[in-house]
Order: sequence, then structure tokens, then C-alpha cells
Amino acid sequence: MAKYSIGIDLGGTKILAAIVDITTGKVLYSSKKKTKKDKGADKITKKVIELVKELSDESGIPLADVGSVGLGLAGQVDREKGILIAAPNLDCFNVNFKAALEAEYNIPVFIGNDVEVATVGELMFGAGKGHENYVCVFVGTGVGSGIVINGKIHSGYTGTAGEIGHITVSQDGRACGCGANGCLEAYASRTAIEQKIKGAIKKGHKSIITELIKDDGIIRSKYLKTALDNNDEIVLNCITEAAEYLSSGLASVINFLNPEMIILGGGLVDAIDFFFDLTTKKTLAKCLPTPSEKTNIVKAKLGDFSGVVGAAMLKTYREQL
Ligand SMILES: [Zn+2]
Repeated sequence: MAKYSIGIDLGGTKILAAIVDITTGKVLYSSKKKTKKDKGADKITKKVIELVKELSDESGIPLADVGSVGLGLAGQVDREKGILIAAPNLDCFNVNFKAALEAEYNIPVFIGNDVEVATVGELMFGAGKGHENYVCVFVGTGVGSGIVINGKIHSGYTGTAGEIGHITVSQDGRACGCGANGCLEAYASRTAIEQKIKGAIKKGHKSIITELIKDDGIIRSKYLKTALDNNDEIVLNCITEAAEYLSSGLASVINFLNPEMIILGGGLVDAIDFFFDLTTKKTLAKCLPTPSEKTNIVKAKLGDFSGVVGAAMLKTYREQL
């Protein structure tokens, strides 16, 4: 049996790919590419095909030793056919990655969505390993979650379970990308936090962020951390607000599902302890007394690699179901 697998995490702004030892979950070589200019089915497919070769060449592991390629896609997917149905951020619609890659390399290809593969990563080699009932929540461009029940991902009747980002946390609140109002991700996603900070600066509030982002305008996690270390009031208020809303969402999930544990991931959680600690404290204060005492809230263990490791493990995970 092949010892290696390739995992590709295709997000809205970057592609992260890795060659993984499937017995240990160890990333042997990884590569990150921006997708900013190169959107559309043809360009993205070409890039993914090139990445598979690059990973093999650079790691020195021949493709003959690679047992599968797994893709995690930020959009709606058809798992059976291996098709990305729609990813507006990438300008990709009805792209058959499975057919394209299998024609090129003759290696079996497995497709999942980005949150699903990140959950598989944490389940097999991360914070979920050895546990049966928990929810993985990832804070990024949006807020997504994977629900694990009895050691398996629960995907729901239409395959869309875990859309925690669209739980209503404010009646008639901010507009959300989904068309509804007051959704959690309109308050607690990275995008929401950045918009709020930029909005406050525009209104004339002083923030150290103005200086930190002067080169390219991008608010990176490390800048938010620097701002917090310098007691920047704007950033402190925005992160505190996001933690407040996120904790309301998480407390609802805990009360409703009674999981053993919540695994929190995403760049922001990874980089900013203050955000993780405050969210944890507020969540446990908001949920019912018994789950408040018993539920663990922990950080995702694989960090940036949850998605690529999970994508690489899709074949193994699905075969054991
Ligand atoms: Zn929504």
C-alpha cells in the first residue's frame, strides 16, 4: 500500500498543497501559491496539476508511491463525481477536478469541502484524535464547522450541516453574504473584524493598524497581535466584539448538541491567544451549568495544515466509514 498522499487545500485567496505520510500525518513537503490573479476553471486546474508534480519533484517521492490526491475546496462540491459545483471566490463553476487530475496522473482523486477536510485532519491526527463527539469550528473568511458524532462527520440531509456561520446572533442585524441578516459570520469572521477596524479608522479613530498595513493594506494576524500588545483600543474593541458573538454561537451549539469538546481553529485563533481565551471564557459563561463544567474548548492542533492533512487523508477516512 502506498505510504504517501497529496492534499490540496484550495481557498479563496491561496492554494496550500502538501505531500503527507499517511501513517503519521506528517507533512513532508508543502507549497503555498496565491490565487489572486489566476482565477477561473482553466487556470486553477492547471495550477493544481502543476502542484502535484512540484510536490513529487521537490520531496523526492515518486508519484508511483502516492496513493491518492485529496482536494478541499472552498465551495459547494459533489463528492461522488469529484466536481466543484460552485466557488464564486475562485470564479469556478462545475469544475471536474477528479477527471482532470486522474487523466493526468492516474492516481485516485477525492474531493471534499474545505471545512470538511480540515475536520478530517483534526479527527485523524489533530486535537480530535481519540475523541468521538465534538465540533471543529474554523474562523477565517467565514465561520464554518464540522460536526463529529460517534467518530464520524455528520453532514446532514443535504450535506450542509455545520453551517455555524449562518446561525442568527442578532435579530435584523448586519447583512450576511448568504442573503440573511444577523448571521454569526457577519460579526465574528476575519472579514467582519477587518471591515470593522477599517471602518473605524475611516471614521477618524486612531489605530496602530494604519501604520502596520501601510505597504499593502492587508491586516495580517500578526498585526492584530502587535496592536493588542500595544493596547490599541480599536483592535481590542473589534476582537472583543467578535469573541462576544462567537461565544454566543458556540454556547448555542454546546447547549443544543452537548459535544464533549469544541475545537477552535483558523489563523486568527492560532495567532491570538487573547481571542481564544476570551471566546472560551465567554462561551462557558453563557452555556448551561452542566455542559459549562464538562465541555472542553481547545485549539486545533494542526494549525494551517488541518486542511492539507485532512485532504490527503480523505481516501483513508472514507474507506473506513
Ligand atoms: Zn449568513
